[in-house]
Amino acid sequence: MSVILRIAIDTPLRRLFDYLPPAGLVSALEPGVRIWVPFGRRRVMGVLVAITEHSDVPHAKLRRAYELIDSTPVFDRDLFQLLLWSAEYYRHPLGEVLAAALPGTLSAGAALTSTRECWQLDTSRLMEASDRIPKRATRLHALIEGMSDGAWHDATELSALHADWRAGLRTLEQRGYVRSQLFDTPPAELRPATGACPLRLGTDQKQALQRIVASLSSFATLLLHGVTGSGKTEVYLQAIAEVLDRKQQALVLAPEIALTPQLVARFRDRFQTPVAVLHSGLSDSERLASWRAARNGEAGIVIGTRSAIFTPLSRPGLIIVDEEHDASYKQQEGFRYSARDLAIARAQRHGIPVVLGSATPSLESLLRVARKPDDLMRLPDRAGGALPPTLKLVDLRQHAANQGLSTPVMMQIRKHLDAQGQVLLYLNRRGFAPVLFCPGCGWSAPCPRCDARLTVHQRRHKLICHHCAHEQALNSECPVCHALVKPVGHGTERIEDTLRQIYPDAPLARIDRDSVSRKGELDATLARVHSGAAKILVGTQMLSKGHHFPDVTLVVILDADQGLFSTDFRASERLAQSILQVAGRAGRGDRPGEVLIQTEYPDHPLMQRLLHDGYTGFAEAALQEREQAHWPPFARIVLLRAEAAELSTALRFLQATQQLALQQNRKVKVLGPAPAPMTRRAGMHRAQLLLHASSVGPLQNLLAALLPQLESLPEARRVRWSVDVDPVELF
Ligand code: ADP
Ligand code: ZN
Ligand code: ZN
Repeated sequence: MSVILRIAIDTPLRRLFDYLPPAGLVSALEPGVRIWVPFGRRRVMGVLVAITEHSDVPHAKLRRAYELIDSTPVFDRDLFQLLLWSAEYYRHPLGEVLAAALPGTLSAGAALTSTRECWQLDTSRLMEASDRIPKRATRLHALIEGMSDGAWHDATELSALHADWRAGLRTLEQRGYVRSQLFDTPPAELRPATGACPLRLGTDQKQALQRIVASLSSFATLLLHGVTGSGKTEVYLQAIAEVLDRKQQALVLAPEIALTPQLVARFRDRFQTPVAVLHSGLSDSERLASWRAARNGEAGIVIGTRSAIFTPLSRPGLIIVDEEHDASYKQQEGFRYSARDLAIARAQRHGIPVVLGSATPSLESLLRVARKPDDLMRLPDRAGGALPPTLKLVDLRQHAANQGLSTPVMMQIRKHLDAQGQVLLYLNRRGFAPVLFCPGCGWSAPCPRCDARLTVHQRRHKLICHHCAHEQALNSECPVCHALVKPVGHGTERIEDTLRQIYPDAPLARIDRDSVSRKGELDATLARVHSGAAKILVGTQMLSKGHHFPDVTLVVILDADQGLFSTDFRASERLAQSILQVAGRAGRGDRPGEVLIQTEYPDHPLMQRLLHDGYTGFAEAALQEREQAHWPPFARIVLLRAEAAELSTALRFLQATQQLALQQNRKVKVLGPAPAPMTRRAGMHRAQLLLHASSVGPLQNLLAALLPQLESLPEARRVRWSVDVDPVELF
């Protein structure tokens, strides 16, 4: 009987690869272990998925794996099953899925656990050793003396005793005076908790906490819908305290923790247990250390961004997804998973609850609790007696904006500054101006590689494409008619200049990707905000999420109209969420907050609903519209994207796809193909085909049959194509 290893390898090919086991391998093999294998001419890391006896490859052609990397599986069983399932669900090659789930160093073969070698002297034989070893063997005597305390000494300590300690210890070991042993690295040093005490919960918080605690140790998907500043984080903290008491771990996902060091600090201050942090700003070794601490159970709390959903936990107890509506939970390229949805799937496998928290929950989550009201926990009021901010629209048709600011806005800014409040201005457009325009002939600077205009970046004297990163020098003359060109519209850079002119006495902090691109800059700027040194804050959505700025009393949304007339059915949901999230930065301290929203469309139903009925009212109406139009969450969709040098090539591939799809399944509607809203991007032409069904089953059946056929289409060789299951962006 032959043993064949079925192995996942990090390649775009949608299949597994068969190998013979490494020569001389006797130990039992478990799925989930890493293994070195020959692949073409390379030596690559693979993950064992299954052990079988049969292969479609003739036995003589099977290659032999080189060697095992792990003695135990990298992923626990539940997590490994989840990964296999998500490769199926998102229709992505398993090898790439597993690679995405591992820190880069582990994909490159790093050890699962870190160990250190230690040596110990047998003190009962100390006298004997001192007597018997010749006096001239000074190295050995130095070692014996240094180790006479009988403790375990590691390489660092031993090399302080003697440069050539290893040879010396070998001699002593042969005579039985010392012994060595491998230890797991000692627990990451505990940072003493400052002992921040749990707050006394309000009634709603208490109820929410009880609901979560009552669900511990079984699967539930709970939604914590609490307005901004309602004390959701406090509820998480106290629920986690209970989880830690039960000797279990909590996994917390947050959209952008690199941006909100405050969040991590609150967890670290409260608990004694090590907190493992995982986000893209870490070095390889930091990430590996966090991952190991999560896997071996040393860290009671793991906080991370999207990909942290794949962190192994030795004793999972609770998963929390903070700001669950945030689009950053969906990976937009490669393995296009939703960390929020996988959090639910993972909690189900572990048999533990997942808490989704937000002030502006996704319509998906709201529909879930509409069908299961017991799973909804509401915090309608701000914690600690803080008042909700008041929202007002500023009609830009009546109050023309000068340099982006209308007169009522300018006056309110002055008033709040005079009252020692901080003012936050939000504009989700970085750079100086979105367009460089020629008044002579109407030319505006285009990106040579995209169907888009270049953004003016005055500080760097550049024109930059925000879609493909193309850069070119900022010209002052029109290339067509040689008239002087001028920037039109406003970005954060330009608003900064305007504000400095109008309020020269108010120190300003700008927060966007250009102003805080270097490591440490963001922390420094946030520190200026928190200390009160900065009075005016201006920024993009980097500023809108998760921050707690207690002294901000006025929030201005400079342009609420971006997204009002988008073709994407999710645009209004996202607009409502971002308006309310930014608004939620106002009045979080003792003083009430005011929010001004500049708009050309004050009568737009979305604006009116938000103003009068808040998010809940908006969401009810939005859900009705989605139901009538058969859009998610009342239907499921999959987007097939294709791109090629020529648009016709991409369309031809999708037309062939459409034909195959129509033959397969009548329960799935096939819409398109059509060019993507921004057709040309980075020099490629893009098109898409939308698959639509009332439930996920028919879609998955169709994809299972369709994708292998697509791979062998002759048109497939001339395009780059991808599948996006449950897409959040329709372009
Ligand atoms: P959210 O996560 O909902 O935005 P936070 O947990 O950050 O809210 O709480 C907002 C503010 O209210 C924080 O300063 C927090 O310390 C405070 N807070 C939370 N819960 C309470 C409470 N029960 N009593 C007093 N203050 C509270
Ligand atoms: Zn011109
Ligand atoms: Zn471009």
